[in-house]
Amino acid sequence: MNARRISFRFAIDADGVLFNFDASWRICAERMLRRDLPVVQPVYDLSSRYALSRAEMAKVWAAWNTAECWRTVQPISSAINVTRMLIDMGHSVTVVTKLPSEKAAEERRWCLDHHGLFEADLVTVKDSKKSALAKLRPHFYADDLLFHCLEAKDVFVPHIVKIESCGFGEVPDGIEKHKELETAIREFFQTAKRQLVS
Ligand SMILES: [Mg+2]
Repeated sequence: MNARRISFRFAIDADGVLFNFDASWRICAERMLRRDLPVVQPVYDLSSRYALSRAEMAKVWAAWNTAECWRTVQPISSAINVTRMLIDMGHSVTVVTKLPSEKAAEERRWCLDHHGLFEADLVTVKDSKKSALAKLRPHFYADDLLFHCLEAKDVFVPHIVKIESCGFGEVPDGIEKHKELETAIREFFQTAKRQLVS
């Protein structure tokens, strides 16, 4: 079997994996609320992370949407580069991302194209990613939220990575932890290579 001819299906979350959503959102929030926002709790939920009230959260989201920040969210360059490399190598890449609206999805598509990921498919969900992952049947899935990693496990994705964007936590068996997508992809190929030669 020629390893160079094997094409894998990669599914990849966007925020916290390809894009530094947290940094971009925090900049938007600090401008809107006119104060520094230190991390109060190293958790995923933004209102708890920055100790913001519901009214403050609503203000920041309104500013985020008005400024079309899904377009300008900061890329994680190593993750964007490794994703481009996967596409160049002939693998299939689908970005599976939770977004609040059609407008946000259009901005995200623009953003992916802007960073050279024209050939990455985009699947947007409102909440669960389970049925999207069940349909895609990826060989690899990476997400920064454990909930979605567990959904991938439920639908038998063979290689699941939790990207630790908000601090390290325990993960169950069958899910790997990585700080960034690049090292996770490298390890995926090392494992695939070992399986091919064994
Ligand atoms: Mg995410």
